[in-house]
Amino acid sequence: MANSSPRAVGVMGGTFNPIHYGHLVTAEEALVAFDLEQVVFVPAGHPWQKDQDEVAPAEDRYLMTVIATATNDKFHVSRIEIDRPGPTYTIDTLRGLKETLGGDAELWFISGADGILNIITWKDPEAVLREARFIAATRPGYDLDRLEKELPSGFEDRVSILEIPALAISSTDIRRRVRERRPLRYLVPEGVARYIEKRGLYGGGAPST
Ligand code: ATP
Ligand code: MG
Repeated sequence: MANSSPRAVGVMGGTFNPIHYGHLVTAEEALVAFDLEQVVFVPAGHPWQKDQDEVAPAEDRYLMTVIATATNDKFHVSRIEIDRPGPTYTIDTLRGLKETLGGDAELWFISGADGILNIITWKDPEAVLREARFIAATRPGYDLDRLEKELPSGFEDRVSILEIPALAISSTDIRRRVRERRPLRYLVPEGVARYIEKRGLYGGGAPST
């Protein structure tokens, strides 16, 4: 996040357990379609909505996100959520990022359409929608009507829909593949696959020392 006067900045939140090409393609599409200056990936610190046994340590998820984004000059990774103790609220993250980026930064929160619903139906949706615009990436099998119906009225123009290539990749499937010793190649960046192996994440075997 080294830029001097950012304007439209993408924020890609997620558990990234692990990060995969679905996340990366979505961020890249949003970057270009909305002419964003950069995309900041924000790994979740304590994803309380997820099954804790399956969530890799925050530091590992952070490092995999750094590895996966290293080759893209416009991708950055923030520690804001993983360094904050206790549960994280999207609203606090958005405000914290704005502080770091400067007052002229306009935030565009990028998420799968399912993820957008989770955020705006959770805590203080109207404040969240005032703090950032949202880019809802369509995911295979997702019904957009639900998003339109559940959005608080008056905020329709804060959410834009982005069609992305139909990638049915999910972290859940990646973790299952690790357990079943099936390939990750072409689903996650090679460095991420190596990192999972090296650290023995997701039940794939003992970490090498
Ligand atoms: P899990 O399977 O563990 O739920 P996930 O693959 O959904 O993981 P998350 O870290 O939960 O990944 O997702 C972060 C964000 O990326 C969410 O907004 C989610 O909707 C979006 N996303 C995840 N996978 C894709 C995909 N294949 N295409 C587009 N968006 C995606
Ligand atoms: Mg998910």
